[in-house]
Amino acid sequence: MRYCRFLREGVAVWGIIEDGYCHELDAAPYDGGRKKSGKYALNDVKILAPVTPTKIVAIGLNYKAHAAEFGKPLPETPLIFIKPSTAIIGPNDAIVYPSHMSHRVDYEGELAVVIGKLTKDVTRDNAPGCILGYTCINDVTARDLQGKDGQFTRAKGFDTFAPIGPWIETALDPQALRIETFLNGEKRQDTSTSDMIFGVYEAVSFVSQVMTLLPGDVIATGTPPGVGKMKPGDKVEVVIEGIGRLANTVVGRS
Ligand code: MG
Repeated sequence: MRYCRFLREGVAVWGIIEDGYCHELDAAPYDGGRKKSGKYALNDVKILAPVTPTKIVAIGLNYKAHAAEFGKPLPETPLIFIKPSTAIIGPNDAIVYPSHMSHRVDYEGELAVVIGKLTKDVTRDNAPGCILGYTCINDVTARDLQGKDGQFTRAKGFDTFAPIGPWIETALDPQALRIETFLNGEKRQDTSTSDMIFGVYEAVSFVSQVMTLLPGDVIATGTPPGVGKMKPGDKVEVVIEGIGRLANTVVGRS
């Protein structure tokens, strides 16, 4: 199934996408949302970020080749950090370049896990039952500030630094999906999620032993090699097999 959020006459609502239509739901899928009578052509509605999480937990250095491109040793346990929910934007929304503080802003295409129920201290084997589905995320990063600050909050937390979408795919095995990132139509990242150091289920289990995950929370599972800088005017797209394409543009601060 494909769950989305979209604007219906100016109101943000949940939906299920079937046969090119968004069928409105009366609540979030993890709150027992059921189909209402209304349906809207997918091409006619504004698709929103498909999540309203309390937190985005992101994993750093989760692909061997990405660790290598930064000359970092492989982590023994997942390195986790949090991106604020206020950084979220939806498909086709603009990433605002924070030129008042940063001069090096990178894209990081990643597979995002959306949690489906209260998740605490789950084992790897029980993790799949806690997952609602998967979507694409761009873990936008002010690389110069990440180095300067020595921790990630500012570098990863600017408003608009978490483009996510376009929708949540529920029927998907996340363990060997092709993940690609394009900058202005040129391919920059192209890897399989099978190259993760800590797989999706291991990551969910690990994070749940640190903090309680709530329905709708997101885990960004780390970026493959090929990260690079963006500038105002650029278009960046994260494409994941079985999910779809998340496209955003970069704009300057005005
Ligand atoms: Mg990342």
